Formats: sequence, C-alpha cells, structure tokens
Amino acid sequence: MRCLLISDIHSNLAAFKAVLDDAKGRYDKVWCLGDIVGYGPSPNECIQLLASLDHLCIAGNHDWAVLGKLDVDDFNPDARHVSLWTRSALTEGNQRYIESLPVALVQAEHFTLAHGSPRHPIWEYILYPAVAQVNFGHFSTRYCLVGHTHSPVIFYAPNETNGICQAQVPSTNGPGPLGNRRLILNPGSVGQPRDGDPRASYGILDLDTLTFEYRRIPYPIADVQGQMEALGFPTRLVNRLSFGW
Ligand code: ZN
Repeated sequence: MRCLLISDIHSNLAAFKAVLDDAKGRYDKVWCLGDIVGYGPSPNECIQLLASLDHLCIAGNHDWAVLGKLDVDDFNPDARHVSLWTRSALTEGNQRYIESLPVALVQAEHFTLAHGSPRHPIWEYILYPAVAQVNFGHFSTRYCLVGHTHSPVIFYAPNETNGICQAQVPSTNGPGPLGNRRLILNPGSVGQPRDGDPRASYGILDLDTLTFEYRRIPYPIADVQGQMEALGFPTRLVNRLSFGW
C-alpha cells in the first residue's frame, strides 16, 4: 500500500488541492499528521476534502485549539486571531469530525504517527537532534512520523556506528529506502511551510517496499493571500506564505 503522507494543511485549500493533483494515481490512502485547520481561510473545505478521501488523521494543537481543548492564549496573537475565527466558521459536522481525531496512532506495524512528538503528541516540537534523541525512547515501532514544525526532516536514531542522533533534509531526487535504522520523519507542511521554501511539502510512503518519496509543489499562493486579506487576517500571516517561514 502507498500512503500520501501530509501534515499541517492549515486551512490552505489551494495547497492541499495542488498536492492531491500532483500525487494523483500514486497513492492508495492518505495519512494526515494533524493541524488541518488554523492560519488559513478554508477550514471547512479542507476538512470536507480530507474526509472525502480514504484516510486516517490525528489531532494537532490547532485542531484542539479550535475545539477549546487548548487555551488560545498560548498562541501568538496572529494564530489566536485565526483560531477564534475558525471556531466561529466551522460547521457543526466539521467540528464533530475534529473532535473524533485521535491523539496518536500505530499503523502498519512499522509506523507510529503523532502530530508533535511521540512523547508529547500535541505540543512538543522536534526541531533538534537532541530532542529527537530523547523521543526515540517513547515509541516502539521502527519509524515515527510527525509534523508540527512545518520543516521537512529525517532524524536517524543513534546506532553502533553513529553514536548520536543525526538530522537530514530529505532529498527530492525520487523515492529512496527508509532503511533499517530507526527514524523520525517529518514530511513538512502542506499549507504553511517554514523552511524557506514556500511550495507545498509532502511525501509518499510505500509500505510494501518501505520507501519514501519527498515532493515540493507550487500552488497559487496569491489567491490564498487574497482570501486571507478579504477576511481581515493579520498581514504577517498573509505575507509569510510568500517566503515560507
Ligand atoms: Zn501546524
């Protein structure tokens, strides 16, 4: 089975559609690592599109914030503004969908899925090898898939030849083996990349061959920015999409 691996859509329908178009015919199921909503202008449309696909999804901190399960005062003012707007904009059915999302999952024997980290699935950011290293003790599968930081990366567990955890940015040169070494993989963000590349980020996991293909896809950023401006979203949030931060 081939999985479309996506995370952090953040209500960016144009980016989500561009990813689905690019991956068309090359996956059997969608694995989504949370934060469907927040930041962007199309929460209902993104939930409905995801729900229309054969998929599984876990909860992210922005999904919980919209439900009131997290205090939005913990967010920066821009994130808080859109979180409160999203709360008022969500249909009842889509709110129920968000409520149904699990916090972490183990799938297909080899994979643990969590939004932030296996240690603290909703909140922890795995930005550095030192944090990744601690987290290898918090899941029992060979591989762990996370989102939340919006930056694509693979952290390799320490082994006999390499005594420390190592970070590597995945390559866009086509599918490559995941290998036998334990790892924590982040496919980056569909709707708000933060690694300096504004293109939508995603991957395709082949569960039979245990290979991963990492992709970056352009989408009509200006259209999304126009929708955000029309809704009166904070300028900083609108602008950052152009730069990928
Ligand atoms: Zn996020």
